[in-house]
Amino acid sequence: IRDVKKYFYSDGIKVGKKQCVKAVDGFSLDILKGENVGLVGESGCGKSTLGRTILNLYPATSGTIRYQGQNIEKLSFKKMRPYRRELQMIFQDPYASLNPRRTIFQSMEEPLELFKLGDKGERKEKVIEMLNEVGIGREHLDKFPHEMSGGQRQRVAIARSFILDPKFIVADEPVSALDVSVRSQVLNIMRRLQETHSFSYMFISHDLSVVRYLCDKVVVMYLGKMVECADKKELFEHPTHPYTRALLSAIPIPDVHRRSERIILEGDLPSPANPPTGCVFHTRCKYVTEECKNVCPELKTLHGSHQVACHYAEKFYE
Ligand code: SF4
Ligand code: MG
Repeated sequence: IRDVKKYFYSDGIKVGKKQCVKAVDGFSLDILKGENVGLVGESGCGKSTLGRTILNLYPATSGTIRYQGQNIEKLSFKKMRPYRRELQMIFQDPYASLNPRRTIFQSMEEPLELFKLGDKGERKEKVIEMLNEVGIGREHLDKFPHEMSGGQRQRVAIARSFILDPKFIVADEPVSALDVSVRSQVLNIMRRLQETHSFSYMFISHDLSVVRYLCDKVVVMYLGKMVECADKKELFEHPTHPYTRALLSAIPIPDVHRRSERIILEGDLPSPANPPTGCVFHTRCKYVTEECKNVCPELKTLHGSHQVACHYAEKFYE
């Protein structure tokens, strides 16, 4: 993913001019085969837009997205088709992938039919096998989504996105809408799938503890930009960007390395239609200087592949 931007334009009726919302504003990342990347940040920071853009569900405003050597960012719906099989999305709301008027079996079979895989009997076998992997028995095949619990529905949606044996998955907050009691069950299923299938994924979450449980690499996003990226261990032991530190301080993880004080972020996330000048985080950063207000910090590489977008990254690294 190279310098990807996704801007939305709207006609500002009141101000009489076009407004530009910079949902993703220059994002670059390599995701290697088998790598699991966690993407974290507050809601409204552009995570979901980025996830959809890298799968070419939304056309990128600019930048390049390459999958196994092929640029996919400009492919038409039709040309994208062969890649759709390998690039899948899991949504926060399972109804985004499960049609309420179709039975579980019909919804699960649909992708196999679309790609003309197997005969009727083989497809049924595959559906049962995949549902089995997420702990849904065959007695549910003829049920409709509304006859199942939220957790079961999300498990079916996950099974559906795995039925074509994808190579890369974007999971957009798949447990955020679920009851706390069933979240860990669904996360465990994701983890089990990691062991039994070979795929890479980007797991989007506003919850660092979820990402810590599932991912190898963590990317922190703020207002459309990457502000920090590192291997999980490095990030949790040496959180450097003031925003990452604030996010980390809010989760209950016993950790010797972690600063004990809770950092409260003042103010709201600024509007991506009117982002701050200089460092995007400067309006909420307690270390802000004149330089921060005027100059946007580049991503610097600190330690190994640890990247931080802050003028004082070296100073903050401990
Ligand atoms: Fe804070 Fe300045 Fe660093 Fe931005 S560049 S995170 S405002 S210290
Ligand atoms: Mg979102």
